[in-house]
Amino acid sequence: MKSIKFILMLLFLCVLSTSLYAQKAKKTTTVKQKYGCSSEIPVAKMYIEDTTPGRGLADNYYLWDNGKIIYVKFLSGSKSLQDKVKTIAKEWEKYANIKFHFVEVGPSHIRINLDDKGGHNSLIGTMAISVPQDEKTMNFDTTDFKTYAAMYRTVLHEFGHAIGLLHEHYSPISGIHWNKEAVYRELKQTQGWTKEMVDVNLFQQYNVNYTNGTKYDPKSIMHYPVFARWTTDNYSVNWNNQLSEGDIALIKLLYPKDGERLNEAPRFTVSDYTNTRVVNSDVKQGISIYPSFNISTAGRPARVYFIAFFYDADGNPIMKDGTTYSISKIAATYKTAVLDVNQKLSANKSKFDEFELFIPYNELPVIKGKNNFQVEFRVYLIDDKELKILYQSKRSLFNFIKS
Ligand SMILES: [Zn+2]
Repeated sequence: MKSIKFILMLLFLCVLSTSLYAQKAKKTTTVKQKYGCSSEIPVAKMYIEDTTPGRGLADNYYLWDNGKIIYVKFLSGSKSLQDKVKTIAKEWEKYANIKFHFVEVGPSHIRINLDDKGGHNSLIGTMAISVPQDEKTMNFDTTDFKTYAAMYRTVLHEFGHAIGLLHEHYSPISGIHWNKEAVYRELKQTQGWTKEMVDVNLFQQYNVNYTNGTKYDPKSIMHYPVFARWTTDNYSVNWNNQLSEGDIALIKLLYPKDGERLNEAPRFTVSDYTNTRVVNSDVKQGISIYPSFNISTAGRPARVYFIAFFYDADGNPIMKDGTTYSISKIAATYKTAVLDVNQKLSANKSKFDEFELFIPYNELPVIKGKNNFQVEFRVYLIDDKELKILYQSKRSLFNFIKS
């Protein structure tokens, strides 16, 4: 319960936030369809130097249980459009041992917004579980559905993310020689993407932990098109319109119809977060934080960190020293534990259940009189050298009078 002193440098690598992807892609004449899908990649990747060749990419930490029946609900869209999306999504079921069960009422794992804006995106795999039931986890911009081919490839791609697949061009052995300046320039002009969005969506590379024995596959439905003018050697990849042999091989490995998944990662999910209760105590000379959530574990045991980060009333992070921003310097407190598999744990879901994080007054800029702070609750998983974010709450404001 002491304040955070562990190697939070790790966390520095995982500050990709949803806002990065929130910008709407603009219409373009150069790239006819909205380029790419700006899917939210909740990565917290740790680079390890590794010369082992990488291959087809999936995030094994966010895979569903093999054999999972995944409940899917539409939040909008015409019946006929919904029916088309359903039919296309089910293409994955031919090869993967999962089922998409479409429901109209009740709880769901995946929720789809069919809209005329917002681009195409989806959360990766089980990350969707942490999202409140009234919020979407996948978006389609139907203005791109002018041809069946465009709709077909887009739906397959987003459902690929929804079952845990990553962009194929992140492969460390893609060998793509990007002309980065040309890409930054064009995507800024045509899609309104910032340099950071281009870096995240195109140029990042995953390490070998994310490979599953398949080769780099330029025909993958998960590969963005790459235009020859974007590479220094005229290498290009066209729009891929269907599942490739590589996609099929990969998904069969991840969700085998007979037998067990070979490469199991710790697959933990945080759900049902409701709020973070904050209580100050002059007796304890500090602040107790009680986040309310559930956590389920599968795959393999792993260490998790439950962390509360502190911000001022305006939302600026409270830095422990200096003014240079770094997530490892934000005032914070945490608890950590190694969790075994097949557990369903609750925190602060009943009055007997006091899961407490504590920070002493002297680690925050507490003043006499009224104090206003914001707190944000996050859950991370650490497995070997990988750091994965499992949950990030919205910030909640709290105040107290210090005598
Ligand atoms: Zn994508």
